[in-house]
Amino acid sequence: MSDTPEREGGGLPEVPAAASVMKAAALGKCPRCGSRTMFAGLVNFADKCGQCGLNYARFNVGDGPAAFLTLAIGAVLALFAILFDQAVHPPFWVHALIWVPLTAAMVVYGLRIAKGALLIVEYRRDAYEAGSLETDGTRRDDPRADQ
Ligand SMILES: [Zn+2]
Repeated sequence: MSDTPEREGGGLPEVPAAASVMKAAALGKCPRCGSRTMFAGLVNFADKCGQCGLNYARFNVGDGPAAFLTLAIGAVLALFAILFDQAVHPPFWVHALIWVPLTAAMVVYGLRIAKGALLIVEYRRDAYEAGSLETDGTRRDDPRADQ
């Protein structure tokens, strides 16, 4: 990716537009080199980038994406299901046929985008897990140091 900021001058890198982060996350692009190596499965990160060697395992995106997606997708789909039921009055099996696969697809694809976006933002914002700094402020394990 060409808009990957450099950190040579110190300080925080330029914050990318949210749209470019979401697009890069959806495509599974490495935040360092831009190759599509971030995911090894549907939502599982690869151990490291096959092109530049960035260690994805050292980033911790936690449970934030799953919790956010549960709330957001659940609210949106519940609203659509209620509106659909009020408008059409379908039998129950129609609801099951529509909402179960739609929910599964939205959760998987949304989780992929959310996890990827958090990893990209962590990389670009130089974020680390609490407790990963030595007492002198240096890093115990810098993911960008791996080659
Ligand atoms: Zn890479």
